[in-house]
Formats: sequence, structure tokens, C-alpha cells
Amino acid sequence: MSRVYNFSAGPSCLPEEVLKEAAEEMLDYQGSGQSVMEMSHRSSYYKPIIQHAEAQVRKLMNVPDNYKVLFLQGGGSTQFAMVPLNLGIKKGRAAYINTGIWSNKALKEAKKFIDVDVIASSEDKGFCYIPQVQKVTGDYDYVYVCFNNTIKGTHYEYIPDTGDIPLVADISSCILSEPLDISKFGLVFAGAQKNLGPAGVTLVIIREDLITDTPLKGTPTMLCYKTHADDGSMFNTPPCYCIYMVGKVLDWIEKNGGAEGMAKRNREKAELFYNYLDASPYYHATAEKGSRSLMNIPFLTKETDPEKADAINKKFVAAAAAKGLINLAGHRTVGGMRASIYNAMGLDGVKALIAFMDEFAKENLA
Ligand SMILES: *Cc1c(COP(=O)(O)O)cnc(C)c1O
Repeated sequence: MSRVYNFSAGPSCLPEEVLKEAAEEMLDYQGSGQSVMEMSHRSSYYKPIIQHAEAQVRKLMNVPDNYKVLFLQGGGSTQFAMVPLNLGIKKGRAAYINTGIWSNKALKEAKKFIDVDVIASSEDKGFCYIPQVQKVTGDYDYVYVCFNNTIKGTHYEYIPDTGDIPLVADISSCILSEPLDISKFGLVFAGAQKNLGPAGVTLVIIREDLITDTPLKGTPTMLCYKTHADDGSMFNTPPCYCIYMVGKVLDWIEKNGGAEGMAKRNREKAELFYNYLDASPYYHATAEKGSRSLMNIPFLTKETDPEKADAINKKFVAAAAAKGLINLAGHRTVGGMRASIYNAMGLDGVKALIAFMDEFAKENLA
């Protein structure tokens, strides 16, 4: 068996140990004679699985007691609606910082339900940086940020001070990549498929006072946080197998030093890669220093002619794939290349990528 190095932005690589363990337990989970996929979510086998996943989220993310941890479906994208429907209820107005496609999608969705002020944007420079917004004031129900921008490879190096206004963050592509002070946020959410497990479950951590039984009029039952909070994410059938896998990934994170351990590992990988790009005569990173993601690193070659660049990029992606380095194409809307190096990607993968890139640069540097 040979495994590839998978640089996909999501779904992305999972720790091999976790996959092996899941494989071993597939046919007969702990003597139950069933796989986790087949068992009732109300069974005595399943309850400890979801309880364990929640306990691990609380421990590893240091979640304060006055927050609920929810396992929902619908991906990060469903949160774009749930947030305004449940939080946009007192003033009917929220502030958004626009840092690219994901925050833009979120604010467009919010506009269906409430008024939105875009209080800062990095669109002027093609979203290659994070705007400095140290203090937010105003008549807002919440302030919304996308903490790590998967497509442009930018990341907040600070947490905006919003005073009493709840801060909401999409942390889909940076969850548990480093320690994060949850008490600074009213709500954070993350689709699992980047750093937590398989696609199909979305983690929401919400401060209890933001869980309302009067969301905006017409909000479907399934889109009320209260529905899920009241029933321990068991109002209906939860994404059982995904939650089981998230629990295992969290165990793996714990074994490898928790959020601190991940941060150390991720900084080492990202530094190596950014240093390589910054020193290279052939490649360059597109995200500005001071705003760079540890998780998603978009880059370009020095070819500036669009047609030639496109051909080179295609050649790069294909040649890399032939060497077992897969999913290096940039997002379809931005082109170029992108290496996503989430928690589960080891330093060996980054070293293998750099070795390939060096070879490719030599061959193509005319
Ligand atoms: C992937 C991603 C999303 C969308 O997640 P889905 O689960 O596909 O809906 C939202 N925000 C960010 C930052 C992402 O990286």
C-alpha cells in the first residue's frame, strides 16, 4: 500500500493512525457486533461516543462552562444563515469584515435576513491581507469574521475587540491549529472536513446567552441553535459516524500535545514552506506577511504572462501528482497553486513538496 501526500483544502488528509483504528473497529465496534455506522444513535454504545467527542472539544479547546458544544449538519455554509437568524434579533444589524469568498458568502446570506455593514475589507488588494480592526463599536447584534481564509491563505493574527458585541468567527480551516481563547467569542463554528474529521459534521461552540427561543420569524426548527442545544445535538439523527471520527482525531491531537502541540508542529511546517517561497527566485507566496495562514499557502511562479502561467501551473500540478503530491491546484476562482498543510500533514510531506518544487523550478527556470 502506498499513500499520497494530500494537500487538499478539504476534505483533507486525516492522521493515518486514526484511519487504521477506525478500520479495525469497522465490523465490530467494541464487541457490539456492529459498525458505528449501523448502530442507533440512542444506543448505549453510541452515547459514550458523542459524549467523548464533546468532552474532548471542551478539554482541547478550553471551552468555558457557559458555552454549548453542538454537532450539526449542513456544513459551514449553513452557519451563514443560522448566525443571522438566531443572533440578528435585537437590532437586526450586524457588522462583517470582508476578507474573501467565505466572508462574502456569509454576508450575502445574512443580508437576506438582516442589515449588514461591511466595516472593513481587504478587497482593494485582492484579499491578500487581513485588515486591522482593533476596536468595533456600534449598534450591532454581532460582529462577524472569517478567521482563516482558506482560499487566499490569510489568517487573523489578532482578535478584534468588540466590547459587549458578540464576536462570531468562522474557524473552519484553522480549528485547533493553535490555541484560541474561546471566551473572546460569542460563537465559533467549523465544518469538520479541514482539521477535525470527515465532511458531514459542523462543530458550533456558542455562548449560552446567545441561544434564543425567539429567532427571526419563520426560522425553521432545524436552524434554531436552541433545538440542538436542548437535545444535546440529538434532536434528530446526528452525523453519527463523523462524530465518532472527530472524537478519534481529537484523541490524536491530544496525544500530540493538544492545541499547543499542533501550533508548534504547524509553525514549523509553515515557516519552512514560507521561508522557501520567500527565498525562491521562481516561486512566491501571495499572502502578505503579518496575515499569513499556517494552514493554507497559495503561491505562484514568477511567470507573469497569464496564458503561460496557466500552462506552467497545470504542468506543476500534474507533475506533482505523478510524484504522489496531490491536490495542489489553487481554488478554481483564483488559480495558481495552494498547499493546504492542516494538522494531519507531517513535516515529511512539506519537505517532499519542497524537494519536488526545487526540481521543477530548476527545470523551468529559463
Ligand atoms: C470550507 C469552508 C467553508 C464551507 O464549508 P462547507 O462545510 O463546505 O459548507 C466555510 N468557511 C471556510 C473558511 C471554509 O474553509
